[in-house]
Amino acid sequence: MRRPRDADAVGEDVLGVRDDRTAAGARENPGEGEASTSSDRHRVESAAMEPIAIVPGLWQVPLGFVNAFLVDGGEDGVVVVDTGVAGSGAAILGAVGAIGKSAGDVRHVVVTHCHSDHAGGLAELKRATGAAAWMHEVDAALVRRGEALRALRPAPGLMNALICKFLLPSAPTTVEPAEVEHEVGDGETLPGGLVAVHAPGHCAGQVALLWPKGGGVLIAADAAANVFGLAVSPLYEDHALGVRSLAKIATLEFEAAVFGHGKAMVGGASGRFRRKWGTR
Ligand SMILES: [Zn+2]
Ligand SMILES: [Zn+2]
Repeated sequence: MRRPRDADAVGEDVLGVRDDRTAAGARENPGEGEASTSSDRHRVESAAMEPIAIVPGLWQVPLGFVNAFLVDGGEDGVVVVDTGVAGSGAAILGAVGAIGKSAGDVRHVVVTHCHSDHAGGLAELKRATGAAAWMHEVDAALVRRGEALRALRPAPGLMNALICKFLLPSAPTTVEPAEVEHEVGDGETLPGGLVAVHAPGHCAGQVALLWPKGGGVLIAADAAANVFGLAVSPLYEDHALGVRSLAKIATLEFEAAVFGHGKAMVGGASGRFRRKWGTR
């Protein structure tokens, strides 16, 4: 059994930019995050998929340019959060094995939003595990019929405009359809003690998740990114609404934050959100 790496044991670097084993989500190279090229996606299958312990009981699973997460839900089994692009199921199950669990231990999969880099592996992961899926209702409706994308526009800034122009046309608009058994509402407590925080803007049915254990961990989904430092995502259905969602998230307390794209932030994370997006 591979042992998962422990963020604490090796200091910040394991979550930082110098450890290239953490795959694209934690590398320094420009062009990562939502801005990744198709070659990044193809690298998903071959990259080392060792899970990174963020706090005890919560691991980040690097899947090329996007991250998934594993939560030890105690009696609820292993909760997988997000499923990468299509074809990521085996890598996620490899990470489950690396934390000493098996496919049968995965009982719940929470998908933060419908985009193909988060919902792409849902159908295959459900087949492999028999787990139940959890999503916000408006994105669940899309994934059930295999749709992955509403119209997106770039966030302000030249880089975001370039990302939109060059990469959005190649973004998959479909995912393999999957049943979603549970629709998630704002403030609802999900298996493993994860608390849903509806965070529309990047995607109407996006939920961030707050895990109260380990000093509090925010799973930010694509409400924000931490690729070139803490920032808004490059692409939005409604940027102004997305910033309001970040102001709501900034009222919460969490020591660590993890992102769909980019490296984990450990220590004082909610303070950094408040300084950037807090309104009080
Ligand atoms: Zn997204
Ligand atoms: Zn994403």
